Amino acid sequence: MYRNKNISAPVIKRLPRYYRFLGELQANGVKRISSRELSDKMGFTASQIRQDLNCFGGFGQQGYGYPVENLYNEIGNILGINNTYNAILIGAGNLGKAVAMHMSFEKRGFRLIGIFDNDPAKIGTGIRDIRISDLDDLEEFCTNNKTDAAVFCVPKGAVQRIADRLYKLGIKNFWNFSHYDLSVHYDDIIVENVHLNDSLMILCYKISEANSILDDTTA
Ligand code: ATP
Repeated sequence: MYRNKNISAPVIKRLPRYYRFLGELQANGVKRISSRELSDKMGFTASQIRQDLNCFGGFGQQGYGYPVENLYNEIGNILGINNTYNAILIGAGNLGKAVAMHMSFEKRGFRLIGIFDNDPAKIGTGIRDIRISDLDDLEEFCTNNKTDAAVFCVPKGAVQRIADRLYKLGIKNFWNFSHYDLSVHYDDIIVENVHLNDSLMILCYKISEANSILDDTTA
């Protein structure tokens, strides 16, 4: 497997998109694709694509394009999605339920092995085939079940205490949907933040900006 520790953060950020597109091409029976065709489909420039893909293996042959299956597999390897990291979800409210129901953890290197909440009305019920456990049982569960990562779908105010408990258990990898800034409090954790409200505000900004440009040009 190709492992280049020096792949830059912006390239890593684009890898899931390459992976998705290549997966679709493969499903459609496409064997090879040129950087130009990829560029037309993905909206990156062809030279950007060549640069990105050169970072991890020089797959492309001048004039022949990229072998879709090899590239798809290699990007999957780089992303590490052939791993099975055990994850637990904290917070089985509306967002937690949606994440548990709709995210294909298994296709992305993870397996959801436990869900926790402190609401007695939810404890003992299930999402998919996973029973919602009492947060009080967190330590016992994580001691008995190898747990690699935790997903936070609890309100901001609840995160710190739960994160402290997880950290003490040696769990330092987080998929964070809350607005609590975990990386400020722990410097040796791995965290991927998903701030849906921020994303919505950026959309709002972009629409407002486009409208104001329109207003300027029509004024
Ligand atoms: P609901 O109204 O069903 O609780 P919600 O998504 O509106 O859903 P939130 O207030 O966002 O609820 O909380 C998300 C989930 O986190 C809820 O299921 C709630 O019970 C749970 N939760 C809140 N505080 C804690 C905590 N300290 N420990 C564990 N779970 C918590």
